Amino acid sequence: APDALTLGRWTTDRAAIDPARPAIVDRGVAVSYGELEARATALAHALGEAGHGRGARIATVTGSTADQVVLLFACAKAGAMLVPLSWRLTAGELAEQLRIADPSLLLVEDDHRPVAEAALDRLAGHRIPTTALGAAGIETAVPDASVHLGHGAPVDDDGLLMLFTSGTTSAPKAVVLSHASCAWSNLSLSRATPMTPDDVVLQVLPQHHVAGWNIQPLLAWWVGARVVLERTFDAGRALALIERHRVTATMGVPTTYRALVQHPDFLARDLSSLTTAIVGGGMLDPRATELLRRQGVPVRQGYGLTEAAPNVSLARDESDDGTAGRPYPHVDVALLVDGRVQTAPGRGELLVRGPALFQGYFRDPEATAEARFGSWLRTGDLVERDAAGRIRVVDRMKDIVRSGAESIAPIEVELALLEHPAVAEAAVAGVPSERWGEEVVAWLVLEGEATEAELRRHLDGRIADFKHPKRFVVVDAIPRTSTGKPLRRALTASLEQQGAAS
Ligand code: ATP
Repeated sequence: APDALTLGRWTTDRAAIDPARPAIVDRGVAVSYGELEARATALAHALGEAGHGRGARIATVTGSTADQVVLLFACAKAGAMLVPLSWRLTAGELAEQLRIADPSLLLVEDDHRPVAEAALDRLAGHRIPTTALGAAGIETAVPDASVHLGHGAPVDDDGLLMLFTSGTTSAPKAVVLSHASCAWSNLSLSRATPMTPDDVVLQVLPQHHVAGWNIQPLLAWWVGARVVLERTFDAGRALALIERHRVTATMGVPTTYRALVQHPDFLARDLSSLTTAIVGGGMLDPRATELLRRQGVPVRQGYGLTEAAPNVSLARDESDDGTAGRPYPHVDVALLVDGRVQTAPGRGELLVRGPALFQGYFRDPEATAEARFGSWLRTGDLVERDAAGRIRVVDRMKDIVRSGAESIAPIEVELALLEHPAVAEAAVAGVPSERWGEEVVAWLVLEGEATEAELRRHLDGRIADFKHPKRFVVVDAIPRTSTGKPLRRALTASLEQQGAAS
């Protein structure tokens, strides 16, 4: 069949095979595959009848819940697109994402009503039917659409998920992933890290991020495994859940794993059930990697981006340490060097190609064209690729600090700083400087004492002098996105405000 990859079938198939098997555990409550399929089918009909059928976009502002999983599979069956928006946005940011997504329905969890209402106020003249996602379950939350959308079976190329990138440097962009893209992403994941119905996934990353779906949960629901959903990440609870549910697979960002190793329960919990622990979104430092391995946690560093749905590369084993591993099956990579595609090893902007790539940025053909180079996706990441095909992100091109005649990669400076025992967290960015154009500033969270002179001595010999921060700013916490990326925009803005005030 030409449209065999649509995700609506996944729960149908699993419910036919083993309806009683738990698919989701949400705050201790299990939802079986039979229940998931029945609820998603009923909701798909309700969506279609109310006019939110094929081609509709359904936005949500909610934590990670079983209800939202039911909604995703209902959207898949109805041919609608789920737009899970971050509950951490300000009213202004949320209004902007709603304006871009232009949904026919907005579903809001009670806790997030104030921010959603404030966002809707800003969208005066742009009416979006909105319902509360109360305790009664998502089935009660579907009002009629003002414009009725199409019926009919979805096809592989229909959009299924619209996800906004994290927006650390620029405004977030609305990435559209089709059924086919999600299916291919999970197919290549399953070939790199096979999963069976006996697997138990712990999901700690939020459902408004691509990792809330495509890194392990969707694969689990494809093969009939169980997903333990966490609404927000808490290191102590995550450690307890791994032990209690005998979790076999999880995925986190570097801050997730750093929080685990720093937690007082880390050494006391039995983590031996874990067979796959993927790190993405950034590089985990060697210190944390080593501590995890000593506890039997087989950490594997990966690299990806929302536009690639997101998996691009994964470390195979310890021989890949210090790199983000090798490309997944069904993923081609190359380098863009001096305007040419280079397949040989070297250094350049990473290009990615394959059937999982996004369709484009929603209603933004110009930005979509800019992100492509022929059939390749331009990642905006500067990488080194060795003869074995391993990639190492040298830096995000848009984050690179241009100081004097030099280009400085924040990641390199951050990793060097993190090697100092008193440095718990580090973020580096360029701030405007009359003398240098930009100068390197480091924001640090310290655990213990370290003077500026000591930090400079520590950096001597580790990184070249011109890369040393001109200023160190000690802070209580580094502002981060919900997936732990330092918000460099917010850091530099805070310094500029201070500068203006002093
Ligand atoms: P925006 O473009 O809006 O600022 P973003 O680029 O952070 O958002 P995401 O798709 O959430 O959007 O993140 C993908 C990016 O994360 C990659 O392009 C890369 O810069 C970074 N990244 C992912 N994995 C790694 C890794 N292993 N090492 C270094 N950087 C990584």
